Amino acid sequence: MVSRVIPVEAFDLVIFGGTGDLARRKILPGLFRRFKDGQIPDEARIIGAARSDMTSEDYRAQVFDALNEFLPISKRDQKALDAFLARIDYVGIDATGTHGWSDLARLMRPGLVQAFYFSVAPALFGDLAKRLHKHKIAGPEARIVVEKPFGHDLTSARDLNATLARHFDEQQIYRIDHYLGKETVQNLMAVRFGNLLFEPLWRNQYIDHVQITVAETVGVGGRGAYYDKSGAMRDMVQNHLMQLLCLIAMEPPARFDPDAVRDEKLKVIRALEPVEPGEVVRGQYKAGAETLSYRDDAENPASRTESFIAMKLHVANWRWNGTPFYLRTGKRMKSRVSEIVVRFKEPPHSIFEEDTGQSANELTIRLQPNEGMDLTVTIKEPGPGGMRLIDVPLDMTFAEALGEEAADVPDAYERLIMDVIRGNQTLFMRGDEVEAAWAWTDPVIAAWEAREEKPMGYEPGSTGPEEALILMHKDGRRWREIGS
Ligand code: NAD
Repeated sequence: MVSRVIPVEAFDLVIFGGTGDLARRKILPGLFRRFKDGQIPDEARIIGAARSDMTSEDYRAQVFDALNEFLPISKRDQKALDAFLARIDYVGIDATGTHGWSDLARLMRPGLVQAFYFSVAPALFGDLAKRLHKHKIAGPEARIVVEKPFGHDLTSARDLNATLARHFDEQQIYRIDHYLGKETVQNLMAVRFGNLLFEPLWRNQYIDHVQITVAETVGVGGRGAYYDKSGAMRDMVQNHLMQLLCLIAMEPPARFDPDAVRDEKLKVIRALEPVEPGEVVRGQYKAGAETLSYRDDAENPASRTESFIAMKLHVANWRWNGTPFYLRTGKRMKSRVSEIVVRFKEPPHSIFEEDTGQSANELTIRLQPNEGMDLTVTIKEPGPGGMRLIDVPLDMTFAEALGEEAADVPDAYERLIMDVIRGNQTLFMRGDEVEAAWAWTDPVIAAWEAREEKPMGYEPGSTGPEEALILMHKDGRRWREIGS
């Protein structure tokens, strides 16, 4: 049932930061899987570029190790591995100097798709963009891929956009939010806009509220010092959760094309109302039996940075007036879950006397684990005993619907990199979207900083601070249990 693979055009893909963690864990294994599936043509080449000096042979050995570490055994087909490694070259390069640039220029082949993945610290984006032009390496059709974080606030995001714009057009810039590459996220658009069933109901008249949860079990240990300057609002809400909210709340675009979709998402961000202080709950995880507290992980005993946030948002437009969006995300929580719940209203009048169980439909869109969707519907409980109602799920778990082939649904990075090669920006953030998201985020953060507000402690392995539950309880609603 999985659709056939259509090869992309031949390309030269340069991975700046090709020896880094992201390249080893995601980019290179993702490229290998696309290669093994026949999506990457034989003429394609991948060029690792990073600070260390080594030969292409040494780099291939590093890539081989990374693939062995990060690919499931079933995917490590030796013949395919050898053929993939043969497509790989390496240049030692200094993003801030002159070293290596003429070597890279020599390696690039004219007439092919050119893509440059900036898998390095954002502080180097400007240096790379400048040198790609100065050394005449990037042609007018070249694409650059940039990773999060895209700025720290509105000012830095504007600066970054302006820096990139000096050397590349917006049509050449691919800002990655890997959440947008998830199969389910795209399926959300298919469900909304490919079926008559949902769209007429997709509004305040019929939807009670929407919940978006991204919970992680890991803490910030290892990158605590970095995270402490960011926090859950900047690290997760401003980008990933905001993107999910946009896809749920946006108007139907006229066409499924990059600017039509992104125009509609931008309108949602611009329609977000400022958040009231009483509608935000911030938390920090405490120490557990075997785990450190957030402050110890961050090595900052006085830290006021949140490792958890829950908030209630209002999209101020005709479609959503009166239907709140509840967002929550945190570290060291009960289980690892990313999901969106669209809770419909109860039918206006019940004709049944023995109305047992809940009678509001719920559409759950799971990004992880087990990507899929389910919709609860109320039916008659089978058997004798009169008319009793129960809620049952109409389940669309990909693994079940598609069988073994579901395991081969490309992961987010694979899909997004292939979209870069195809020149399709639909699943990438546009510069004005990112700026609008920061313009909404900045005052919320400034308000709690001005109040010198301390996050509330929460137990590791929990669902966050009690106050997050109260945020919904006081509206007569409740969060879907994490991991249910
Ligand atoms: P890393 O520190 O593991 O790797 C950094 C890479 O940059 C190395 O290959 C290094 O050689 C290269 N580099 C550093 N300075 C250089 C210079 N002056 N010239 C040339 N190359 C230089 O970083 P990472 O974790 O791979 O992250 C890369 C980017 O991706 C960052 O922007 C990060 O925020 C982002 N990101 C990473 C992850 C992840 O899971 N690692 C997830 C999301 C976003």
